[in-house]
Amino acid sequence: MGEIDRGEQAKKVIAGLKQVYPNATCALHFETPLDLVVATILSAQCTDERVNIVTDDLFKKYRKAEDYALAPPGILEEEIHSTGFFRQKSMAIRGMGQKLVEKFGGEVPKTMEEMTQLPGVARKTANVVLGTAYGIPSGIVVDTHVRRLSYRLGLSDETDPDKIERDLMEVVPKEEWIWFGHAMIWHGRDTCIARGPKCSACVLQEFCPKRGVPRIGDPGRGRTVGTRARRRAERG
Ligand code: SF4
Repeated sequence: MGEIDRGEQAKKVIAGLKQVYPNATCALHFETPLDLVVATILSAQCTDERVNIVTDDLFKKYRKAEDYALAPPGILEEEIHSTGFFRQKSMAIRGMGQKLVEKFGGEVPKTMEEMTQLPGVARKTANVVLGTAYGIPSGIVVDTHVRRLSYRLGLSDETDPDKIERDLMEVVPKEEWIWFGHAMIWHGRDTCIARGPKCSACVLQEFCPKRGVPRIGDPGRGRTVGTRARRRAERG
């Protein structure tokens, strides 16, 4: 990838993020692994703050996989309505509950292979749950923030989340995988914002190539100039 040594770059990014987010973890509230599966499904296209408001009541009512499996669709849809895409999410949560009861004795499994058999659960959700609820470093969470930052920082040229994750797993030590995904997400929320990154206040600015970020004084400022892949990554 160009002149960037991704291994060296990853070391610098990790050191920089450690200064700001030494204990970064998931912002979703949960008590059990099951709670976290549900919260992560609800967090698609929704802020964590909104999800936490909704799950505050939801988790008091739904305690076991069976509770979700038997939930009347209309009622669950109403309860999660404000997180958006409530029909698909309700279907996924009920299906997930049913699968847990039928195949996994009502328990959230502890492997990527089993987790991704659950409706509504792809690698991202599985990584969040396995890493945060069980402490198992199954991979690196790649959400919209991690995708955007990985490109800007020169850690991956890819746009597909699974390929970005593979690139990151090559250069981030395994003992940092769980922390790294969350630290990148926090940095994306606080500083490396999609439409207006605060580069001058960023702890990574000295070595960040700022790929796809418009430079102050550019004639094209305000418009990201670049390849199609870059624009896709930028949209994050
Ligand atoms: S320097 Fe700018 S582009 Fe690079 S990580 Fe920081 S905010 Fe993002």
